[in-house]
Amino acid sequence: MLQSIKRLFQFTEEYKRKMILSIFLAIGSVAAGILPYFLVHRFVLEILYPSIPKTELMVIAIAIGVLLILKTVLFIFSTMLSHQAAYCILRNIRLKLANKLTRLPLGYVLERDSGVIKKVMENDVEELERFLAHNIPETISSVLVPVLVLIYLVFIDWRMAAAMLIFIPIAAFFYVLMMRINKEKLDKYYRAVDKMNAVVVEYVNGMKEIKAFNQSEGAFFRFREAINDYRRYVLDWYKACWPLMSAYFVLIQASVVSVLPLGLYLTINGSLDVSVLVLFLLISMGFAAPLMKLSEFADGIIAVTNAEKNVHGILSETEIPIKTQNVSPKNHTVKFKNVSFAYDNEFVLNHVSFEAVEGKSLAIIGPSGSGKSTIAKLICRFWDIEKGEICIGDVNIRDIKPDNLMDMVSFVFQDTFLFNMSIRENIRVGKPEASDGDIIAAAKMAKCHDFIMKTKNGYDTLAGDAGNRLSGGERQRICIARAILKNAPILILDEATSSIDPDSEEQIQEALGELAKGKTLIVIAHRIRTIMGFDNIIVLQDGEICASGKHEKLLETSSVYQCIFQAYTFTESWTIKSGKEMRKC
Ligand code: ADP
Repeated sequence: MLQSIKRLFQFTEEYKRKMILSIFLAIGSVAAGILPYFLVHRFVLEILYPSIPKTELMVIAIAIGVLLILKTVLFIFSTMLSHQAAYCILRNIRLKLANKLTRLPLGYVLERDSGVIKKVMENDVEELERFLAHNIPETISSVLVPVLVLIYLVFIDWRMAAAMLIFIPIAAFFYVLMMRINKEKLDKYYRAVDKMNAVVVEYVNGMKEIKAFNQSEGAFFRFREAINDYRRYVLDWYKACWPLMSAYFVLIQASVVSVLPLGLYLTINGSLDVSVLVLFLLISMGFAAPLMKLSEFADGIIAVTNAEKNVHGILSETEIPIKTQNVSPKNHTVKFKNVSFAYDNEFVLNHVSFEAVEGKSLAIIGPSGSGKSTIAKLICRFWDIEKGEICIGDVNIRDIKPDNLMDMVSFVFQDTFLFNMSIRENIRVGKPEASDGDIIAAAKMAKCHDFIMKTKNGYDTLAGDAGNRLSGGERQRICIARAILKNAPILILDEATSSIDPDSEEQIQEALGELAKGKTLIVIAHRIRTIMGFDNIIVLQDGEICASGKHEKLLETSSVYQCIFQAYTFTESWTIKSGKEMRKC
């Protein structure tokens, strides 16, 4: 917890002045809340034993009113400043996180559930607001002012001050117990909240599948279990915590119970003035309010610590090493030299060596799970390899600045992603400075112009809104248009046309063929038909290259390739046959 608080204070450095001012205003506010008790004491004394003119008595009465107003005004200004500082700090933390994500291996981001990263950036960062805007000023002032008042009271009468304090150690004991229970129980509670959130998202997102496969009962059971778990942990926490919290509240306000009998005894035996007794009774009542606020700190700090740990978890991840001096490759030939790679412990690529020559086309084919996509992703440095070397134009990709590397590569993934902005802007992502004319030309090449024009607002249709209505093939075509617009010297297509109907696919392949002229073209193939004419085909099996060459050679020499080809011809004939049968019907 202390580590988390220490790290949080580092974020406040830039807004130190605002934070300190907010703390002083909070101290002023708490002081303005306690001072009226002293003035009321004075007021009562003056009524009982008048020593000053009545007009001065009025001044005391007005001062009491002003102090009570001041208490609220100072609190408002303190909160305003602490919130201003807190939200600037939250913005900085969010920007830092976003920046960090761009410097982490892309694989790190892809491997994680986007919901988890979203939760850290949204909810966990927001949780820190409680500490920055409330806990810091309010806790400091809620402790400091009562302590100063107590010191003052010790000088007036140490016996009465001791009586006021008598319950504080017991209250503190319950407070520490409460903190311990919070730490133990709230961890489980927060995990239950996370689980419930994940199950809710899964339940809603998977509604289509749940209905299609009649899984309502199973899915609902998981949903209900998660909610029940959540309820169980909340109640568990309440049950354990509330007796302690109640004891703390009672004890913190109990000083009057000790002050009154002792005060009466001392007054009766003549060793305490009645006016001092009245003062202690009044302060006993005002003293508790700020200390009660500390209860909010007890459960809040656990949530804050949890959130800070999640934020720190991302911020402390190892970044992809970046060379400060960029080396520019002399050409765009991609070379794998004896590359082996494992995501976890098991190698998914073993001693892979090949060359994708600039101006030539290379296809990678092989059974599902053989490592094709991994090869494509390694070229973009989604992960760093530990064994072997990947070069572009004889320069190790680790020596190329990530921005420059990304400029060199156009990548169309199998799982397309569209931003929640217009189709036009989605295509423009490929080349931010492109004109509308360039965008339309790219869209025409990718065969998406026609269906875009059929959407309600054409190129201005929001892809996020339209996204649900666009077919998988249409989404892929928008992504292809993006890659066409980018026009990078290395073009990697990872099953980029898998969701596109054969007719459009042929036209897009033609367009991509045009685009790829003079470039390095690497295609992860799913339909053998589209790569038969390629300059080189690599056949991958279990992470190893088992054959390579042109289509005709592979048909003669590679049994794996023959199998893939037979499977393809069987599927094609089956499709045509079923088509004929359908027509007959
Ligand atoms: P292909 O593209 O040929 O279908 P992939 O390159 O996607 O194959 O996957 C190769 C192997 O690596 C598979 O066994 C797959 O389960 C595993 N794999 C792929 N991505 C990851 C990942 N992010 N983390 C762990 N294992 C992965």
